[in-house]
Formats: sequence, structure tokens, C-alpha cells
Amino acid sequence: RPNYRVVVLGSAGVGKSSIISKFMHDRFLESHKETIEELHRHVMWFDSVSVEIDILDTSGSYQFPAMRKLAIATGDAFVLVYSVDNTSSFETVKILRDEIREQKPKGKYSIVVVANKVDLETFKDTSCAVTESVVCMDWEERFVIVSAKTGENVNEVFQALENKIRER
Ligand code: GDP
Ligand code: MG
Repeated sequence: RPNYRVVVLGSAGVGKSSIISKFMHDRFLESHKETIEELHRHVMWFDSVSVEIDILDTSGSYQFPAMRKLAIATGDAFVLVYSVDNTSSFETVKILRDEIREQKPKGKYSIVVVANKVDLETFKDTSCAVTESVVCMDWEERFVIVSAKTGENVNEVFQALENKIRER
């Protein structure tokens, strides 16, 4: 059977590729390189059991609705990323979550919502991210506050899926 597939979605520039790079290679790139779609294979260790997962990085551009539909159709889990300095990127997360709910049978997928770039000063200045996190809690989806730059909580994003991945 195919590997457990984690699809990373969110607006362009929120840090999807950065989170994946930090998680897989412990590397942070300051410059933004546009992604179309990239599939990464990664081995995760749970206790002493190794599991191969596929991580699909997406563009975050709405020029490709068909690609997004296919990504949702083939995904087992979805990491929905927004950036704490960009309120509209949180609106995108809401839209994506509704799309996933419409397309996927109930109970057949997991969602983790990620607030990225918490290292930025704006995060400390505004209560926006905190408010948004409360909204997320109401969704009953898992919520992780992350910085791809410092590495804070990056592993937790994928660890949050441990039980689901092990069930496979
Ligand atoms: P993507 O379009 O969602 O894949 O976004 P990228 O991973 O390409 O990141 C877009 C820009 O945001 C890049 O310049 C990154 O260096 C920057 N970036 C990503 N994550 C963080 C973070 O946690 N903190 C800060 N300060 N910048 C970040
Ligand atoms: Mg990218």
C-alpha cells in the first residue's frame, strides 16, 4: 500500500518549504524559491520503529485548483500553514480546511494547523496570532506554533501525526 502522505498547504510565502526543509535537513533558507509541487520521502522513527512517509510541498498558488484538488484527494494528512504576520493567510487556511472537509470522507484524514514565523517581532506586538489560535482550538484540529527559522516546534508538526501514521 502507498506511503502515508502528508500534504502541506497554505498561501505562498507562509513558509511551507522552509518548514519541510528544517524538518528534513535542519536547514533554513533566507530566500524564497517558488515551489510548484515537490514530493519528499522521509523516514520517521517512533520508538525504534521506522516509517516512511511522503511529504508533498505545494505552491500555495490558486492558479492550480486542479492540482490542489488532486493533492487533497491523495493526502492522508494535511498541514495547513499560515504566517503570524499575514492575517489573510489565516483566511486561506479556513478555506482550505473547508475544502478538505467537503472532499474527504469523515475520519479518513487528519489536519494540523500551523502558525509559522513566531520569531518575528510582529508576533509579540499583535494579539492576532493568539486570537487565531483560539479559533483553531474551536475547530478541534491540532494547532502548533512554529518557527522554521529557529526550528521551534517544527518536529511537533509531524509528531502530531504519530498515532495516525502508526495505524497504517
Ligand atoms: P512557501 O511559499 O510557503 O514555501 O514559503 P517559503 O518556505 O519559501 O518561505 C517564504 C519566506 O519566508 C522565505 O524568505 C523564508 O526565509 C521566510 N520564512 C519561512 N519561515 C520563516 C520563519 O519561521 N521565520 C521567518 N522570520 N521567516 C521565515
Ligand atoms: Mg514553497
